[in-house]
Amino acid sequence: MDMASVTNWDKSGAPGVLTIDLSAVRRNWRRIASLVAPARTSAVVKADAYGLGAERVSAALYEEGCRDFFVAQYGEAVTLRSLLADDAALYVLNGLQPGVESDCALRNVIPVLNSLEQVGRWRSTASLLGRRLPALLQFDTGMSRLGMAPEEAEALSCDPALLAGIDVRYIMSHLACADEAEDPHNAAQARMMQSISESFPGIPVCFGNSGGSFLGEAYRGAMVRPGIALYGARPTDILTQPMEPVVSIDAAVVQTRTVPAGTSVGYSATYVTERAQKLATVALGYADGVPRSLSNRGAFFLGNVRLPIVGRVSMDSTIIDITDVPDGALSLGARVEWIGPHQSIEQVAEDAGTITWEILTGIGNRYARHYR
Ligand SMILES: *Cc1c(COP(=O)(O)O)cnc(C)c1O
Repeated sequence: MDMASVTNWDKSGAPGVLTIDLSAVRRNWRRIASLVAPARTSAVVKADAYGLGAERVSAALYEEGCRDFFVAQYGEAVTLRSLLADDAALYVLNGLQPGVESDCALRNVIPVLNSLEQVGRWRSTASLLGRRLPALLQFDTGMSRLGMAPEEAEALSCDPALLAGIDVRYIMSHLACADEAEDPHNAAQARMMQSISESFPGIPVCFGNSGGSFLGEAYRGAMVRPGIALYGARPTDILTQPMEPVVSIDAAVVQTRTVPAGTSVGYSATYVTERAQKLATVALGYADGVPRSLSNRGAFFLGNVRLPIVGRVSMDSTIIDITDVPDGALSLGARVEWIGPHQSIEQVAEDAGTITWEILTGIGNRYARHYR
């Protein structure tokens, strides 16, 4: 056995190494903050900061100056709240969950109120606790997912008693098509948000996600909510200069073999060798976020050499063709690159027929994680 390659195993025994560059996250945040200033830049850290670790990412961004953090679920907020400094605001995008109202207020978690019913419950909570409670109001401007209809905005602005005891920090909305700059939905949503904001004079708007932040002033408001761009992926098609990559993933080879022509490879024998081929089995599978749709499509890399995936991606392993690699260069324990300098997450997502958001959030928890 080649001792040099054996030492390539991560000491924890993990089959893959996930490296997360927190200084790149900080620089990506800084880039957006400079671009959108004087608007504020928050950070969307839902789904464990898109799989990269909400605690570490939030701490790094707090140091960089970020004071506004968004999660999706109340449970995520409960976990994160105790780790964040008191002067950081923490917002819950998915609304005010029934039964948690007082707990939410006491923990200093700020709900995004998505319906008149939620506004009513927050108003009652404020009255019960005898103090004003902060909230964001979300309006649906064209996505039909979360938030109040424009008529409800009208109802709220005509009857201020409905907001008694509620300190509305921002009104917000979310863009459906910000990843495609030229999509006419964007301008339509911006127009609708503009008209809603006229009903709430003096209350700032929180609008763009990562893509929206790059679309121009009309899509930002007073605060933007970037997620994916912080984590290094291209958020919208007009962005010419890419974000700085944050994630790299390397995987260990657990077996190599040479097989003759006509040999079937992997589950359901979807690949049959056309000639004698050298194969390596890599210790990452769909349980580690390698999409099964990459079966017979995607690749790993050894330096510049592309090593195509052959056969089906399995749960814990993937077979690659290493015929182009010199004999002995890849043996037990050697590492190959899945995501890194030779293969971007954009490329992986494209090959898999999905989006970078899904690739990042699909990364499993079997990796040895290294933060830089
Ligand atoms: C997830 C989310 C974001 C962040 O979106 P990115 O495209 O990742 O920047 C912003 N706002 C809302 C409401 C979201 O759900």
